[in-house]
Amino acid sequence: MIKNTYIVLGYGRSGRESEKHLLSLGYKIIVHDDGQNIIPEINWSEIVGVVQSPGIPMSHAVSEAARAARISICTDIDLLQKRNPKAKYIGITGTNGKSTTTALIGHILKQAGLNVEVGGNIGIPALSLKNLNETGWYALELSSYQLELSNDLHLDIAVWLNISPDHLDRHGSMENYVSTKKRIFSHAKLACIALDDDYSKQTCNQLRIPHTTIASEFKNCPADIWIDASGMLHCNGALFDCNELETLKGTHNWQNVALAFAVALQILNTPQKIWEYIQTFPGLAHRQQLVAKIEHVEFINDSKATNADACEKALKTYMDQNIFWILGGVAKTDGIELLKPYFPYIKKAYLIGESQNDFAKTLNGSVLFKKCSSLESAVFKASEEAKFENNAVVLLSPACASFDQFRDYEYRGEEFIRIVKKVNT
Ligand code: ADP
Repeated sequence: MIKNTYIVLGYGRSGRESEKHLLSLGYKIIVHDDGQNIIPEINWSEIVGVVQSPGIPMSHAVSEAARAARISICTDIDLLQKRNPKAKYIGITGTNGKSTTTALIGHILKQAGLNVEVGGNIGIPALSLKNLNETGWYALELSSYQLELSNDLHLDIAVWLNISPDHLDRHGSMENYVSTKKRIFSHAKLACIALDDDYSKQTCNQLRIPHTTIASEFKNCPADIWIDASGMLHCNGALFDCNELETLKGTHNWQNVALAFAVALQILNTPQKIWEYIQTFPGLAHRQQLVAKIEHVEFINDSKATNADACEKALKTYMDQNIFWILGGVAKTDGIELLKPYFPYIKKAYLIGESQNDFAKTLNGSVLFKKCSSLESAVFKASEEAKFENNAVVLLSPACASFDQFRDYEYRGEEFIRIVKKVNT
């Protein structure tokens, strides 16, 4: 029997790109996607491999059957590396900040005139990226799911941001989660790693490849590149002021900046130029994105803040301004309890979505609030009231998922931008 068939397990955007790529190589494809409820009859003797979407766990029946039949499982990232064996690869992982850091690295290298493609978990399927030769660089955001499934990842530079509890339902324990993430270093030539949390410090101690360390939390922690409490980035005696970075505000973003700086230094070796490129980073949509400044009121779209943790970063960034905070939607288990220390900095809260009543209870007595029937009415109300305050910011940072009111967080953010434009006219 000729082995000429791949199973594409999971038929989202990356699954469709994998199918297209494998068809172009002459393979037959069996698509399996539970959403379509197609259970294929599989003759394993024909199967070359399974390309598994990161959204599908290893425990999936087809995945388990493939392992039992000793069929290799891979991801679209593995296929990309096979398709472009000479290109250079940067992989970026961590619990938070992956997309920002990936986009920032891509931006710096592009500004420097290099041939760069940015994709992976950031929302651009790896196999939709252009082919690159030995002069080209791929900057790939890698989630723990992709790292778990990838069977032959080899990076020129592996980038590690931070670790905090996440996705434990799938990984089972913190230990498993961290060891899955560590797969990023398996065949890497070089690492750039942040030492801002204990898991990351332990991980760094175990590294057996050359690495550059960064520290951004002002702790007494020796690192090659570090940021002090006033926001100065120190690198080989040179100083760069992170407070200048309009699109990368907040200490959480400074970790992303320091790592992107460390990576770029490995490739470009021109610190001053790298800093200039960082200053021109346009920022990523929906993450503390400055949408407009109307008179003295800033409008910030932080729709990606779908939980209290991410929202905390935004409240911390703007706590020296008068915050008119729009929040609500489908709340996470602990609601907004975590955000109580920031309540004194909130001028007024505008509640939207199904969490209204619960959040009203949490805010009651600490923060003035108004229940609003829609995002649009919240934006109008907030902007009317914000214009009477100096240094005001209307901040959409919902601390909630969006699907009670919107298709996804991106659509919620785009709606916010559309409504802010109406305020402007
Ligand atoms: P990811 O791709 O890992 O989800 P993003 O770059 O999309 O990360 O940022 C998502 C949210 O996470 C941001 O809105 C911000 O609140 C927070 N964040 C960004 N960078 C960091 C970081 N380095 N550490 C902690 N939180 C961060």
